[in-house]
This record gives sequence, structure tokens and C-alpha cells, in this order.
Amino acid sequence: MPPLLVCRGCRAACVGDGVPDVPRRRGGRLCPPLFSVCFPFQNMLQWTKTAREGTSVADLNTDIRFIKGVGETRAKALEKLHIRTLGDLISYYPRRWEDRTKLFPIRDLPEGEYACCRAMLAQEPTAHRISGGQTVVKVRAVDEGGVLDITFFHQEYRKNALHRGETYIFYGRAEGGGIRRRMANPLLEKEGGQQLTGRIMPVYPLTAGITQIMMAKAVRQGLDECRDLPEDVLPDEIRRAHHLCYAGFALENIHFPTSPEALDTARRRLVFEELFLLSCGLSLLRQRRESVHGLPCRAADMSDFYAALPFALTAAQRRAIGDAVGDMTSGRPMNRLCQGDVGSGKTMVAAACVWFAARSGWQSALMAPTEILARQHYENLAPLFARFGLRCALLTGSTPARERRGILEGLQAGDIALCIGTHALLTEDVTYNALGLVITDEQHRFGVDQRSALSRKGSSPHLLVLSATPIPRTLALIIYGDLDVSVIDELPPGRQPVDTFVVGEKYRLRLNAFIRKQVAEGHQVFVICPLVGEEDDLPDERKAVTAYARQLREKTFPDLRVSLLHGRMKAGEKEKVMAAFAAGESDILVSTTVVEVGVDVPNATLMVVENADRFGLSQLHQLRGRVGRGKAQSYCVLLSDTQNPETRRRLKALAATNDGFRIAEEDLKLRGPGDFFGSRQHGLPTLKAADLSCDMPLLAEARDAAQTLMAADPRLTAPEHAVLRRRIQALFDLNEGTLN
Ligand code: ADP
Ligand code: MG
Repeated sequence: MPPLLVCRGCRAACVGDGVPDVPRRRGGRLCPPLFSVCFPFQNMLQWTKTAREGTSVADLNTDIRFIKGVGETRAKALEKLHIRTLGDLISYYPRRWEDRTKLFPIRDLPEGEYACCRAMLAQEPTAHRISGGQTVVKVRAVDEGGVLDITFFHQEYRKNALHRGETYIFYGRAEGGGIRRRMANPLLEKEGGQQLTGRIMPVYPLTAGITQIMMAKAVRQGLDECRDLPEDVLPDEIRRAHHLCYAGFALENIHFPTSPEALDTARRRLVFEELFLLSCGLSLLRQRRESVHGLPCRAADMSDFYAALPFALTAAQRRAIGDAVGDMTSGRPMNRLCQGDVGSGKTMVAAACVWFAARSGWQSALMAPTEILARQHYENLAPLFARFGLRCALLTGSTPARERRGILEGLQAGDIALCIGTHALLTEDVTYNALGLVITDEQHRFGVDQRSALSRKGSSPHLLVLSATPIPRTLALIIYGDLDVSVIDELPPGRQPVDTFVVGEKYRLRLNAFIRKQVAEGHQVFVICPLVGEEDDLPDERKAVTAYARQLREKTFPDLRVSLLHGRMKAGEKEKVMAAFAAGESDILVSTTVVEVGVDVPNATLMVVENADRFGLSQLHQLRGRVGRGKAQSYCVLLSDTQNPETRRRLKALAATNDGFRIAEEDLKLRGPGDFFGSRQHGLPTLKAADLSCDMPLLAEARDAAQTLMAADPRLTAPEHAVLRRRIQALFDLNEGTLN
């Protein structure tokens, strides 16, 4: 009696060899109600077995040290990958997969690529000493039409482990063409071993002390020992409506796919799930925010404030101020992101909010990522507020103790209306009398933790975040989570756009002359290099910033003042160099991208970017925003000798427009959203499965599904959504204060 098989994808049962009576597609087996779910039928069978009657000893919270074959030492190493429990282990997804299913005859092995072949050892292996005292083991293997010469480095044991006449599957990168090939350090196993070859192998991100094989074994063991599958968080109707497979199938096949189709199916499900959870979570966060009472602000006539400004605000600035003021009087805490291109005048929007809050007796805190920026804000804003009798203070790490005491007293007494500072504002002993508004500038330098630490100093104060990084709308929601967004899409009048040029190396001499000319006219110049230090193994060391600065200083411009700034300098040093440049004490600042964030040096009129092709467009745009802040015409020169037509097109596109949003859209199209995420701390759960450079369509789908669900059950209180709700809570760590 053949066994009864049940498809875990659609629960269709069939009898026999696992081939349900359905049409075939792409050589796979289809289950009509749920396309593609039944492809890897055998594997589904295996999964079913495991889940029902396997070794089944552990639950998801089991410490991995108790998983067979893991143990203390490996558990310690795995901890570095944030794998602590069985649940962590099985949701540690591979970074990529290697298809080792296809066997090539030796003569057809693709040159320079990893591939498998089946071959017999034609001789006993021989060992040779080579310089450095190493031993290499050599052996020749053959198949019907080819010869494969294999060399093992650092594997002396192979000499006695391999024998003439034995047949193995080798997996490695073949060198050479024709019928004689070479392979160094291939993986090998007996045919049918199925551990290393003959299947699609996961490739995990690793850490010291863990190898791919260990990792794969641990995961295999973990999956086998799992008593319960993780509960399926997707409500069944959503799973079906979006043609998604079960969680168990997805987990099995994301690690050990039985076919490329199974992998697709698994990945699609996990990505969808991740984005769906994210969307639902954001919706819950928003609701929670809406249930909190905002500090009340009285309506006030802004025209008094406007009248005190030396210029008329742009319509976009007024709009953003209107949004913010609306939030502050709404009875809910403001939680707004104000996005505007560099130089669009976000500071004035912040100032207007400070003024407005002060009208109702609230104090404000403005946090900047660096001391120079904080000081700059202070110098701009203190005189402005003084006219209204509002006192400002500057509090940074280098504020002298006595002055600091005075400021703390002023804040506690409520005499200071606006405190501008750096992280120093977060220190325990800073307390406010009535903190009503918290503003952070250049938000991506702050984590959510820091934002909320500052917020906790008041009771649900209004929050305004300023950012110069234009984010396409599609991404803003994910990156900024639950923030409302105002966009300043207009520059103050009279601003001269920065003239941008894309040039090659042969322009170098003219460029040097141009730099001289700018300096002779009393202006300053930024030169940006992509990398730091001489140890970076770039063929052209001039491109390395330290060496480059030295060369400029000693050879090219011995008569000019050249200073150097890079990310490996101590914070204090960086500040010093930057402050000196801002004060006009140097002519040329050679720097890595650390200058990206909003320092205002109106006297700088030329931005030179070396190897411009290595940067994302948005990043280049940010860099360009460092110039063009004064009255003089400013220039940006992008140096690149790249022949890649696509890259050239991108650089040209940048040269053609000064509109940050258009550039960001372009960047997104071309490079995917990696740049926007980068190392940015956005404070939302990290995406493990999703890769937004290719999963944008799925994001839209998942968001739609989430919206529909949340509309029907806004707080996820229905019993069938309990699993979903628990998972979201765990993911977002929904404690009071987070993401406030
Ligand atoms: P960012 O948005 O990059 O933070 P800032 O707020 O630093 O820009 O403003 C850039 C410069 O433009 C400042 O010198 C500021 O005084 C000036 N500015 C801001 N708004 C206006 C305006 N409406 N008209 C003219 N100049 C303005
Ligand atoms: Mg700014």
C-alpha cells in the first residue's frame, strides 16, 4: 500500500510516488489551488514527517547549546551572529545559495565558475613541499572525456584519505579549457552523499569559529529537532489569497531547497511575511501614538515671528510649519519628519516650531549630530530668539562645568526656552521644567533609542525630525516608520544652483588650476576621496585620502593650506579640523565622506569628488550640498574615468539636476534601496529575508494585505490574530517609549 502524501502547501492529498494528478509546469508538479507550492513534493513529505514524528525534542526557545552537535564553544560563536535559541537558528537565513545539483563532464566545466563534476582518481595522491614549508597534495582524476588535475593546499591528510580508483563528486572552480582542467581545493564527497553536493546548498553569513558546513548541519539538526513549527503568523485566507506556502515549508526550503522553484516559493513567502509584519506593526505604532495625549499648544499668530526674520519664508517652508503647528494643536503628540534638500531652510521650520511652543510656555530641545552643527544652530538662532525675550543655551560635551551648571539650572527653572546641543542633551542630569518639543537635526545620525531617550525627558513631547536625505515616498514609510512627513520641495529664491561637471583624469591639470583660482579669489575647496588610509589596497594610492592629502600639501599645492579629515580620526579631532576649515583657516579640506552632514561653510565654492563612480547619486548630491551655500557661484567636479556607460549616464543625470528627490528616485531605480538603508539606524526590525532592491512589488502587496487586515481588526484582538499580534509585539519590542 503506497503511503498517503499530504501537500503541506495546500493540504491536497495524493497517493503514491508524490505526483498529484495535476498539470506540470516548468517540469515541476503543480497543485492547482496554490500554484507552485507542490513543486518539491518529496521535500514536503519529508517536512511533514519531521514535523509529525521526527526526533521532536526541542521548542523554539531551546538554547542552541542543547542542539545536538552545537555545544558550548560553537554556541558562543553563534551568539555573535545573534543566534541564541533554536528559533533564532532556524530563522537565520542563508545569504545566497549554490546550485550543486548539476553534474558536468570535466571538459564542459564552465571555466572560472564553481561547478560539480564526477570523476575517478587515476593515481595515488602525491605530496610536495613548497616554499614556506607548506605541503600540497596533488592528484589526477578522470572521466570519460577529460582530465582534472587537483591540488589541495593545507590539506595534508588528503594524501592518505584518497585512493586510486575511487570516484567522487568534486565541487570547485575549474581553471583552464579543453579536456585538461585544474581545480584547487575542491570540496568532494562520494556520490549520493548529499551533504556537500547533489543539492542546492545554503551559504550563510558566518563568523569566526563557524564554517558553512557546521552552520548547515546545525540548521538541519535544528529543523529536525523542532517540536513545533513556528506558529504560522499569516492568517490562512491571506496566505491563500496571495499564493503563499506554509511557514514550515518556507523554513525548510529557505535553508535546504529541493529545487530552484521551491526556493522561490519559500523566499516569496518569508519576504511577504516580513513585510506584512512590518506593515502591521507600523499601523499598531501609529494607533498607539494616536491614543496618547499631546501637550496642548495654544493657537498663535505666526506673523509676529515671520516679521522678525530677515527674509520671507518660502511657500514650502510655510506649509511645513503649518503641518507642524497643526500637529501641536491637535491634542496628539507631533511625530513629524521634515524632509528638505540641503539648503532648503529646515532650520527656520524648526525655529518656528520652537517659537510656537514657547508661546504656550513649552521648552524645546534641538539635538544636532555634531558639536559644530550645534554651535552653528546656536549662533543662528540665539539672536533671533533674543528679540522675543526667549533665552537659548548651547550644551555640548565641551561646555565648561560652571557654564553647564548654569544651563542645567536654567533648564530646570524653565528660564531657557531652547536648549541646543549634541548627545550631551541626553545625559541623566539634564532635566527640564516643561519640555514640550524635541527636534533632531539630520535624523539618520540618531538611532530611535536616542530620539526616545530625549523624548522621555518630557512627557510625550512633540517631536520634529529634520532630514536632508530625500527619500522616495515608497521607502519613507519603511525607513521612518511611523513619522508623518512634510516635504520642503523648494529652495529659497536667488539660490544659484551648483554647476556640476563630470570629467576624467585628463582634466586633472585644468582642475588643479581651477582649484588655485578659487582659492586665489578667497574661496575654499572640498576634495572628497572614497577611502581612508594607505593600507586599503587600491592600486592608485593617490586615491587614498591620507596619501593624497600629503601629495597635495607637498607637491601640488605647497603654497596653500591643506587640511585632512577622515572617519578614523577621534571625534574631537574631527571637530577641530572642521571648525578650523569653517573659520577659514585652511584653503583645501581633503576628506572622506564624513563631511556629508550639514555643516555650513558659505565660503566654500568648489567640491571635488575623486572616483565619483564609487558613490551613490544621493550621496554625491549630499556632498554637493556642502557648497553653494553662499552668494558666490559654486561648482562641483565629479572625477571619474569609468567606461561603464550606465555609470556615466548616472553621473550625467546628477550633473543635469539639482533636485534631490529626482536624484533619489533615480538612485532607487538604479541601485536599489541599499544606499538608503546603509548603516542607517532606523530603529525598525531589520529585514532578514527581504531585499528591497528586488522585493518592492512584494512590499506593495504585503502592505495592501496588512491594510485590509488592520481595517477589519485594527488592534488585532481577534483570536485568530493572536499569533500575529504576539509576533509583532516581539519584533517591535513594543514597550512604552520605543519609537515614540
Ligand atoms: P538646511 O535645510 O540645509 O538645514 P538651512 O536651514 O541651514 O538649510 O538654510 C540654509 C540657508 O538658507 C541659511 O543660511 C538660511 O538662513 C537661509 N534661508 C533659509 N530660509 C530662507 C528663505 N526663505 N529665504 C532666504 N534664505 C533662507
Ligand atoms: Mg540643516
